[in-house]
Amino acid sequence: MIFIGTVNLTRTRDEGNFLCPACGVSQGFRLRATRAWLTIYFIPMIPVGNHEFFVQCDHCKANWDPSVLELDHLHPSEVAEEQFCREAVRSAVLVVLADNQITENEIKCLQTIASQLMKRPVDREELGQVCSSAQQHRIEPANYVLTVSRAWNQKQRVRALQAMFLAAAADGPLGELQLGILARMQELFDLTDAEYHRAIEEAIEPATES
Ligand SMILES: [Zn+2]
Repeated sequence: MIFIGTVNLTRTRDEGNFLCPACGVSQGFRLRATRAWLTIYFIPMIPVGNHEFFVQCDHCKANWDPSVLELDHLHPSEVAEEQFCREAVRSAVLVVLADNQITENEIKCLQTIASQLMKRPVDREELGQVCSSAQQHRIEPANYVLTVSRAWNQKQRVRALQAMFLAAAADGPLGELQLGILARMQELFDLTDAEYHRAIEEAIEPATES
């Protein structure tokens, strides 16, 4: 009998200083690369899948999307729609994975969000890749959104909030964990209670476009 399995190996690819959004001051960071390897008799033999990169703060140990290194706090630039949609779907995935599990309902809901709200359909395979890389990184939804959303305009922020709300509500009433995440997003996006509630109402009952 041959023992075959997989293992994730993580290596440091780069080091330096960055402005950690959680610490609020310059800290050391390590750019880490994770890759899955096929093991035979517990020895990693063949790499499978691509490298997944993330940035870890040496001080608070929070994990960040590598885009945190390119944050320009003085001159935020707008992102292309395509990139926004990818980031918004990933944010919704992180909200779903916050309770460490994903259900069939949630997968269907994420696909609906991608095709209807983002107008960028994703197939199950692509969604699976986003989920597995998100699980490897363990980036908190709020930490991820904090970095990528700087380049989002206000309309994109509202759409991303709607995506995250719909994803959180896929399995019925929101729990404390999901409500906490959404409340943090309202804060990050600087939305008033009225703006927040309007966004949620729109998400539940999309206005029919003429
Ligand atoms: Zn930090």
